Amino acid sequence: MTVTAAQPFLPFVRPEIDPETIAEVGKVLASGWITSGPKMQAFEAALSDVFGGRPVRTFANGSATMEIALRVANIGPGDEVITTPISWVATANVVLAVGARPVFVDIDPRTRNLDLDAVEAAITPRTRAIMPVYLSGLPVDMDRLYAIAGKHQLRVIEDAAQAIDSRWRGQRIGAFGDLASFSFQANKNITTVEGGCLVLNSPEEALRAERLRLQGVIRTGMDGMDVEEPGGKFNLTDVNAAIGLAQLPKLAAITAKRAALAETYFRCAADTGLAELGIELPLPLDPVGATTNWHMFQVVLPTDRLRGGPAQARSHVMEALREQGIGTGVHYPPIHLFTYYRSLGWREGMLPHAERIGRGIVTLPLFPAMHATDVERVCATLSETCKRLSL
Ligand SMILES: *Cc1c(COP(=O)(O)O)cnc(C)c1O
Repeated sequence: MTVTAAQPFLPFVRPEIDPETIAEVGKVLASGWITSGPKMQAFEAALSDVFGGRPVRTFANGSATMEIALRVANIGPGDEVITTPISWVATANVVLAVGARPVFVDIDPRTRNLDLDAVEAAITPRTRAIMPVYLSGLPVDMDRLYAIAGKHQLRVIEDAAQAIDSRWRGQRIGAFGDLASFSFQANKNITTVEGGCLVLNSPEEALRAERLRLQGVIRTGMDGMDVEEPGGKFNLTDVNAAIGLAQLPKLAAITAKRAALAETYFRCAADTGLAELGIELPLPLDPVGATTNWHMFQVVLPTDRLRGGPAQARSHVMEALREQGIGTGVHYPPIHLFTYYRSLGWREGMLPHAERIGRGIVTLPLFPAMHATDVERVCATLSETCKRLSL
């Protein structure tokens, strides 16, 4: 197809809030009860159904959800949590927030997720938890993950922020396992604008999470109040919950549309010779049994073969795509090379796969309102751009 600059700008993500959702929000605002209340409880019940009946509590955002998960698991000063450097920085920041130490291990370049061999090698007597991230919605090998956790008696705090409706051997992520944390931030597959939820193991854990999300307050009788352990202000409002309740019934359709667009990406990538240009595509189908929800479609650019080299090739490509009306994103630069994390001793060269992929990874447009022609245009433009910028 021919590529012209006259087409409307295609962002890499665009949330969809339909008129019924907007009407639901209006009803909550007019109801006289606008913060956490009946809508939040209804949303939690609906989410519990999604996750096989396990207890679910909601929070103001995904980061708060993970911080509460760490507190529920009693992780704190002196503890180590093994995680991946290729994630949103919140993953490591929340470990620091509870006083523990994030220990980064390298990624598997095929899945771009935590390398489970490296996880096992990084376990020390101080290790208390593994925090896997399902990048772009692709689960790790869950059998292996829980076998390692079981063998070493570690908690698993799943950063499943991107993984709602992703599956392992047909079972939804969150419907089994230890603590699983999801985000409903505006870019995620299901949104509450900002928000998150935690899937827990027992009513006792759920009660503790409930208290921690509202200052640790325990209410009894008409007027009794006590605090046994201080919490924060992390509750989800009914306004946000109403958005989530309206989105949840569309989950299956959203996942199916994303999968169809991903399939179109693979076809167009082949048609436009992306692999021949050295561009690495995501895993189409994990033979082990991981089904992604296609939260993102990410490619890795061959930065050493493009003008600008490893330091600048990606920004050149992103700029050229933007000039042709295509938005892209970077998810993510490796956390261990941020200034603060370097101050903790992390250095370039320690996690080579993460560093290479962190330099070259680009998120291409993918959201349910896109058409196959949009995907064709992205692949054609990316192919032409990389040919033009090839060394
Ligand atoms: C979105 C996201 C978070 C944090 O969620 P917020 O709702 O933005 O706080 C954490 N980890 C990953 C991998 C995410 O994608």
